[in-house]
Amino acid sequence: MIELKNEPLAKYCTFKIGGEATILFPETLSELALLIADFAASKKPYHIFGNCSNVLFPDSGVGFTAVITTKLKTVLVHERKITAECGASLNSLAIAARDAGLTGLEFAYGIPGTVGGGLFMNAGAYGGQLSDVVCGCTAVTKDGLVQMLTADEMELGYRESVFQKSGLIVLEVYFTLREGDKEQIGALMSSYMDRRKKSQPLEYPSAGSVFKRPVGHFAGALIECANLKGLNVGGAQVSQKHAGFIVNKGNATARDVRELINLVKEHVKENSGVVLESEIRIIEETE
Ligand SMILES: Cc1cc2nc3c(=O)[nH]c(=O)nc-3n(C[C@H](O)[C@H](O)[C@H](O)COP(=O)(O)OP(=O)(O)OC[C@H]3O[C@@H](n4cnc5c(N)ncnc54)[C@H](O)[C@@H]3O)c2cc1C
Repeated sequence: MIELKNEPLAKYCTFKIGGEATILFPETLSELALLIADFAASKKPYHIFGNCSNVLFPDSGVGFTAVITTKLKTVLVHERKITAECGASLNSLAIAARDAGLTGLEFAYGIPGTVGGGLFMNAGAYGGQLSDVVCGCTAVTKDGLVQMLTADEMELGYRESVFQKSGLIVLEVYFTLREGDKEQIGALMSSYMDRRKKSQPLEYPSAGSVFKRPVGHFAGALIECANLKGLNVGGAQVSQKHAGFIVNKGNATARDVRELINLVKEHVKENSGVVLESEIRIIEETE
């Protein structure tokens, strides 16, 4: 297990924002499971993260140990099944599927998260989401007990899962895919990546789409209609390229981002009556 003390969280998240923490990087699944059991027994506060691509850390650092899973990245393919450790990137998962001639995970290519963070969020894009292809997982309860879950037990909905309510930590995820044509799979993945590059401000740090898609609307379109593109607080700005993104233009603080989120919510509500809900996980100063 790797342990880093007084380590800036900004270094590990896609927003490049966040104060210091003690960070642990378990190197095997059993190390992670034992670690959770130890935390449960000692009642010490901890929080699990994958690639930190959907979180906003506070400027002042955090009062818990951050456990980052990105060293747990094994992906195994057997016939039409894939087993992936929680810290494997969604990119490597999609690539493993393509290389084995398996279709169903093309949409995941380009989502900068891990398998565990992806399942927690039921990540999706271009009409696909993990719930389409997940068939089960192994998880640890907050009391440190390892258990298996079926896809139904994960209660996967639009950016929702049982993991958000239960404190269950995902260890390993199982996918069932269909046979496909390697070249067609690769071509679809490349076309999705091209669409991302054209439509998303990938040149700046961000945490992706800040808001969930409200029923019957698109958050980006509502924000654009309220004339908020380019609005900034300190170093945080509503992206000029994709209004659903808030980007860090260089020295944004978590406070800047939180203020900007609140401003966007207020203006959108005033302009269209729609209440936006954050998709990104905002970690508060005291957590
Ligand atoms: C440029 C950009 C583009 C993006 N595009 C998309 C997109 O197209 N579609 C989409 O859905 N998302 C998108 N995202 C958001 C993000 O990549 C996804 O939400 C991703 O699934 C988060 O995974 P992560 O590993 O980074 O999770 P983290 O950000 O590390 O964590 C997110 C949440 O998951 C929890 N978590 C992490 N690992 C585990 C685990 N093993 N067990 C239990 N809980 C866990 C954390 O506690 C946290 O609450 C984008 C982000 C960026 C920066």
